[in-house]
Amino acid sequence: MNERIYISMGSNQGDSLRLLQEAQQMIALLPETERVDCSSLYLTPPWGNSHQPDFINQVMELKTELAPLKLLAALKDIEIKLGRRRTERWGPRNIDLDILLYGQEVIKERELTIPHPYMKQRLFVLIPLMEIAPDCVFPDGDSIQEVFDRLGPPDGETPFRKLDPDGLLA
Ligand code: ATP
Ligand code: CA
Ligand code: CA
Repeated sequence: MNERIYISMGSNQGDSLRLLQEAQQMIALLPETERVDCSSLYLTPPWGNSHQPDFINQVMELKTELAPLKLLAALKDIEIKLGRRRTERWGPRNIDLDILLYGQEVIKERELTIPHPYMKQRLFVLIPLMEIAPDCVFPDGDSIQEVFDRLGPPDGETPFRKLDPDGLLA
């Protein structure tokens, strides 16, 4: 149970704050699983399909004895319990739970790719991850700082806005 596991959580439909809180609680209650840390909430512009509301994003660190595919199944189950319907890829959704990293494991299965295949291209993942894991190193040896420096705007300014725990702009 020593692996550092990171989950990305996002919502841009429904009561996003409550949904993210409930997702956090449900993840922490999974068998043989414990919450380690959670980033701040971030208000972020949509990625992939810009014709939709801004998202609230957050990254959670946990420890678990659940194997990666079991964890994925548990997260999909939580998405359904929280009312997620089949949605278009990269479209609006009330809750999206993705596994970013599972320790240093590299997994390429039909239904599960770890590290998450797009995480290095997504500031909405890198910024909250860097907040709680500034020393994070990917299985390929890249540090999160290197990845961020490659992707981030040269002046360090991003359109991301940190929210306080009540969802108000901090
Ligand atoms: P993206 O994968 O680009 O973030 P998405 O989250 O919108 O897109 P979904 O419709 O939520 O995509 O999921 C599609 C499938 O991706 C899931 O059914 C799941 O099996 C698969 N998948 C592959 N790798 C992962 C991962 N690391 N975490 C979560 N789901 C994954
Ligand atoms: Ca996703
Ligand atoms: Ca997903």
